[in-house]
Order: sequence, then structure tokens, then C-alpha cells
Amino acid sequence: MRTPFVAGNWKMYNDLKAARELMAGLRSSVGKMQGVDVAVCTPFTLLYPMGKEIDGTNIRLGAQNCYFEPKGAFTGEISPDMLKAAGCTYVIIGHSERRHVFGETNDLLKRKVSAAQRAGLHVIYCIGELLAEREAGRTEAVVESQMREVLTPELDTNLLTLAYEPVWAIGTGKTATPEQAQAVHAFVRAKLGGIYGDGAAQRLRIQYGGSVKPSNAAELFACPDVDGGLVGGACLVAGDFAAIIRAAQPRAV
Ligand code: PEP
Repeated sequence: MRTPFVAGNWKMYNDLKAARELMAGLRSSVGKMQGVDVAVCTPFTLLYPMGKEIDGTNIRLGAQNCYFEPKGAFTGEISPDMLKAAGCTYVIIGHSERRHVFGETNDLLKRKVSAAQRAGLHVIYCIGELLAEREAGRTEAVVESQMREVLTPELDTNLLTLAYEPVWAIGTGKTATPEQAQAVHAFVRAKLGGIYGDGAAQRLRIQYGGSVKPSNAAELFACPDVDGGLVGGACLVAGDFAAIIRAAQPRAV
């Protein structure tokens, strides 16, 4: 049985005051939550202070990106070791905004995923198709290439979570139906089996992301291959994020 995993992606939101208020709400509602792994992935500048805010709770810290080099003249970048030193357990890599706004390629993401794991970070690797790709019947081909070109057999599956995030559902208010999500998640798990073997594929968690809200979380998380969610907009409201985390809890062992 896989422990559900719900991560909040704060994107480029929250100043220190708002972040502290949000964390206070989460500490009191889900800080001691059992049976669900919970992470908040904050902007870089909030990592240290939010690390202090979650001290003593079951909430873990994550970043939203990193570079693949350990150090050097890479202005504006941040290394996996720096994230680890800032208290991160997780790092999101390959988010659709990194792919489509910043032009990150599978080749670059492959280096980032490996480097992050070498530093001991648990990678949340995002995959997902554009609306035009879904409408052209290319969803499986797209997510397969996003996996095949990035997820090398050498990776540590204990430091890996997949997040299936259909790009047309991110921040749009449109959510994949449970049937659509389950179909892709089952496909992704089968492909993971081809890379890492069936045992590892059964242990790997696959989050769904794309306009997850308190009103739709339970039906999405009830799908057999959906192991929690990667949540954007709704994670910025403590009560909404807590409700989504609770919706993941009934499946916990
Ligand atoms: C995300 O940022 O990964 C995301 C899924 O955003 P939203 O929940 O707002 O669609």
C-alpha cells in the first residue's frame, strides 16, 4: 500500500507575513497528520523561515526547481546541495511552467533529476500533455517521452515521485475527470514498470495535479493509481489545503 502524498506548490506567491500566517494555519490543522505525507514547496527566499515554521511537525519542505551543477558561475541558479542545506526534503522538477514558460527540455530535466537525487533530495518529477496534444490523441506518447528521456534506470526510486499534471488543467479551474486521471496514471505506472520493474512501479507514488480543490480531491484520490496530489492555487489557503490533505487520508494504511 502506498502512503498518499500531497504537496503544495506555492509558485511565486506569498511574502513572509502571508507565509507565516499560512503555515500557522497548516500547523494547527495538519501539522501532526498521520498516514499522508505532506510537503510545502515554497519560493527559495522562504525556505529557511518556513523550515523553522514546520519544525516539530510532520510537514516537510520542498523547492520548486534547482540547477544540476553543484556550484560555480551560474548567476541566478541554485544547487541541489544548497536546497538540502536550507532544509529541503523535496524538489519539484519539470513543472509545466518550467517546461513551457522557461523552455526547459527533457535533456536539461534529466540532468536536474539526477543531480537532485545525488544531493539526497526526493524529486517530484512532473509530466503532462498540452490541450492540443490531448486533442490530437497524443497524451500517452507525450508522457511516455517525458519519462523515457528523463527517468534513467540508475535513479533511486525511493527518492522519486511522479506528478501527472495535464497542462490544460493547471491553474485553469478545469480538472481531469477521475476516469481521465486514472487512465493516464495506470499508463504511467505500467511504463515505470518497464524502467524499474513491477515491484518498484507498485511502490512509486503518482500524484495528480491540475486544479485540485476540496470539492474534487476525494474523487480523484479514490482512483486506484492516484496517490495524492500536487496542488497549486488551493494550497495558498490553509483551510483548502488541509481539506485536500484530509481527502487523501482515508486511503492511508
Ligand atoms: C501546480 O502548480 O502544479 C498546479 C497543479 O496548480 P493548480 O492546482 O493551481 O492547477
